[in-house]
Amino acid sequence: MVSPSSTSVVPPSSVIVLGAGMIGTCTALHLQQRGCQVTLIDRREPGRETSYGNAGLIQRESVEPYPFPRQWRKLWQVLWQSGADVHYHLKALPSLIGPLWGYYRHSGPALYPQVVQAYSRLIAHCVTEHQALMQGVDTQNLVSPTGYLDGFRTPAAWAAAVKDAQRLTEAFGIRHQVLDSAGMAQAEPALHARLAGGLLWQDPWAVSDPGALVRRYAEAFAQRGGTLAEADIQQLHAKGAGWQVETSQGQFEASAVVLALGPWAARWTQTLGYRMPLFVKRGYHQHYAAGGRLNRPLLDAESGYVLAPMQRGMRLTTGAEFAPVDAAPTPVQVTKAERLARQWLDLRDPLDDPPWLGARPCTADMLPVMGPAPRHPGLWFNFGHAHQGFTLGPVAGRLLAELITGETPFIDPTPYCASRF
Ligand SMILES: Cc1cc2nc3c(=O)[nH]c(=O)nc-3n(C[C@H](O)[C@H](O)[C@H](O)COP(=O)(O)OP(=O)(O)OC[C@H]3O[C@@H](n4cnc5c(N)ncnc54)[C@H](O)[C@@H]3O)c2cc1C
Repeated sequence: MVSPSSTSVVPPSSVIVLGAGMIGTCTALHLQQRGCQVTLIDRREPGRETSYGNAGLIQRESVEPYPFPRQWRKLWQVLWQSGADVHYHLKALPSLIGPLWGYYRHSGPALYPQVVQAYSRLIAHCVTEHQALMQGVDTQNLVSPTGYLDGFRTPAAWAAAVKDAQRLTEAFGIRHQVLDSAGMAQAEPALHARLAGGLLWQDPWAVSDPGALVRRYAEAFAQRGGTLAEADIQQLHAKGAGWQVETSQGQFEASAVVLALGPWAARWTQTLGYRMPLFVKRGYHQHYAAGGRLNRPLLDAESGYVLAPMQRGMRLTTGAEFAPVDAAPTPVQVTKAERLARQWLDLRDPLDDPPWLGARPCTADMLPVMGPAPRHPGLWFNFGHAHQGFTLGPVAGRLLAELITGETPFIDPTPYCASRF
């Protein structure tokens, strides 16, 4: 880490990237590849927040973002918080009404197909773009192309999922293998329960320490001449033809700034006068000491949590909690999911006290915000990647870097522009 210099020279093609999660770090790498002089600022080491605690999946199969449930039975379960997958803070609901209504509308038959089209175009490149960034980065023992399993408790849910998987394969070419009860036991011998069946998604990759992958990308950025700065960002304003960022470690200046602050982006967009339907879905994780170990991540598809084999132990990650990003932790979903997971796998003692808490940065239309800030020349947005920000980092970084440097973007950026709101 370096401190800012006392002189405030604005070099040409200089860019400051705010936030060193997966999104900011990949943006910095891509800008650097295009000849920009880049400073990447975060108040912590790279990859220590949301990009640290996720399930570590590079989700090539996830071409359809999670829609708002529309079946009465499911809505009822969500309302009463009777499952492990959704929890909410009652006090948070009034401020969530607007974004959740938008989320509900975009999940309906009129809008959802367009959302899927725009989302799947990004997901299509996730593995190849990670692969490109991994060139020259040590990812040994960190990344494996193991695929990802959905496990089912009931034959009815399994049969419905098999049908849906067939549809995804036909529409998007996503490869999958249908596993019956014996097939699941063979694929994952550590499971001590007999599952109804499963689906093996063959294209996703699994990362056994997601924070470490971000850190290695950031180390590569620094080795190639990029500047990493550990500082708390306090103010952001236009200065002359460029931008000035005031931090706990002094001022930084550049001709352009990228806001890649993940779940904290909303605070900054509001200050700058933008009204966007942003919200977070919080999520927890807990690690367990070695007991049964899976060969690859496994989703308990009817209960909404993931078990992922990580370097630290088996990591259980929870579904969505609707609460303000900085509200006190309420890890009830960890307790519920742990009870269910123990029916499947021998989990020893929990290792995190308290469980880790993070927040998925979400938008009402399920699409990330990537492109220029409509009313602030030289300011760029890259946030709102929701459930797949770890997957999409390199795609988002490349797209934004191409826009900033005036290259022809490899994906049509129109659906992700901030001006859509
Ligand atoms: C439980 C869970 C499981 C998930 N599983 C997956 C998965 O398997 N696959 C997948 O693709 N995605 C997954 N996700 C989603 C994914 O983790 C996020 O979409 C992604 O990490 C967002 O990256 P980001 O860079 O936008 O945000 P972050 O990683 O949160 O980075 C934002 C950065 O901004 C910094 N920052 C904020 N404010 C300031 C400030 N004032 N000054 C300085 N720095 C600041 C923070 O320190 C942070 O490092 C999961 C999320 C959760 C919660």
